[in-house]
Amino acid sequence: MKTSSVDSFTKTIACPSSNLLLSFHLQGLSPEIMTLVRHHLAACDFCCAEVPLLAHYQRPLKGECKPPDIPINLRILAESLLGKSAVRKVPKRKKSVKFGLSITGS
Ligand SMILES: [Zn+2]
Repeated sequence: MKTSSVDSFTKTIACPSSNLLLSFHLQGLSPEIMTLVRHHLAACDFCCAEVPLLAHYQRPLKGECKPPDIPINLRILAESLLGKSAVRKVPKRKKSVKFGLSITGS
């Protein structure tokens, strides 16, 4: 029984970076490098599996990176909390914890 195939499923030093594989997928490399990567893919299971994965990656468009709007009720809550803490000083309450331990021997 061989289990070495599981161990070898990893990136090696010879593997191109994910960025390079992505450029390869997008045909954005020079013909020589495209050939090199293609040869590597033929021999490397990991990179061969990584390319279809990278196919799902989409470069973010400009202006597409803005965070989603906060729901209005959460925004009101956050602004009221932040506004109050900035304007009004919350008086520190003195600790009034009493220890009510009582030892009853029996
Ligand atoms: Zn590889």
